[in-house]
Amino acid sequence: MKANLNLGSVFGIKIIVHWTFFFLILWIVFSELKRGGNSESIFFNIVLVLAVFGCVVLHELGHALAAKRFGIGTKKIVLLPIGGMASLERIPESPKQEFLVTLAGPLVNILIVVILYFIVPVDEFVRLNFTETFEILMSFTIQNFLFYLFLVNLGLVIFNFIPAFPMDGGRILRALLAIKLAPVKATQIASSIGQFIAILFLFTGMLYNPFLIIIALFVFLGAHGENQIIQHMALLKGHTVDEAMMINITTFKPEDSIDLVVNKIISGTETNFLVLEDHKIKGILYHKDIIDKSNENVLVKDVMKTKFETVKDTDSLHKIYHIIFVENKTFVPVLSKEKVVGVIDATNLNEYILLQARLVF
Ligand SMILES: [Zn+2]
Repeated sequence: MKANLNLGSVFGIKIIVHWTFFFLILWIVFSELKRGGNSESIFFNIVLVLAVFGCVVLHELGHALAAKRFGIGTKKIVLLPIGGMASLERIPESPKQEFLVTLAGPLVNILIVVILYFIVPVDEFVRLNFTETFEILMSFTIQNFLFYLFLVNLGLVIFNFIPAFPMDGGRILRALLAIKLAPVKATQIASSIGQFIAILFLFTGMLYNPFLIIIALFVFLGAHGENQIIQHMALLKGHTVDEAMMINITTFKPEDSIDLVVNKIISGTETNFLVLEDHKIKGILYHKDIIDKSNENVLVKDVMKTKFETVKDTDSLHKIYHIIFVENKTFVPVLSKEKVVGVIDATNLNEYILLQARLVF
């Protein structure tokens, strides 16, 4: 994770280049060398790819700024060799919002296409025959560069409108379906279509382009994951934390020895623990930290983490779902009127979801 390149922030959104992106650059250099290219062609292609990814950033910023209009923040934009990803804080609630937030991305590319159309003599390129076009495009001029950028952006627009949920086209499809159908049903249909297209991508990719295989995998897993989240959200709707939390939990005091905790882990099934003093939470003992320090002669207060998030027993399970599965907080204390009444973690939230699912189907 450390090898990711942080490009800084735009509108308070971090722009991060994923470390795998450098393989794309390497791949360009190698494939150019294999084709008998020279330093000029390598330079031309690398700058072109960087410009394309500049357009990808603008596309993602399109999503982010549209989301901002609806009060949804964006934490970061990550650039991967297969494209960009804007991590919104939450999925837009209404179909109309999702439609507009999604559309804003490809609209940026359409805008770029229109601008480049007026800069590059596209008509002239089109009027030439194949050999003539080929000959002109062989030279590394700024005009050719912009023409390629025009073509790539046009390609991005078309590709993004393929209804392969969770790609943009698929999100637009879901939003349209959700006008008439319940969100759960709309997501189910959109993700089934997405997974079907992913399989087509996979076969096409195996024949022509390895990048398409990776995109196929992303779409397939993404469709599955998002469909699952939506189904879960529907099951949890209207339920509160006190229905799902654990109440029979072992707690420790800051002055307890860590040996006591280690013995509890060995003799029971609990792995994380609350540290209390006068009914107040002082910290959380996480499994990994306990194991790391198990051979040392230390006290609970030396091992516990003192920064943690808490929820109220009356909070919605939607909120805790987000905290546990999106923010990846493994173990969250539950308070009622400032007093600890229980704990909730991924395992027991999953159990609760399974039980609810049995009740529904
Ligand atoms: Zn997009």
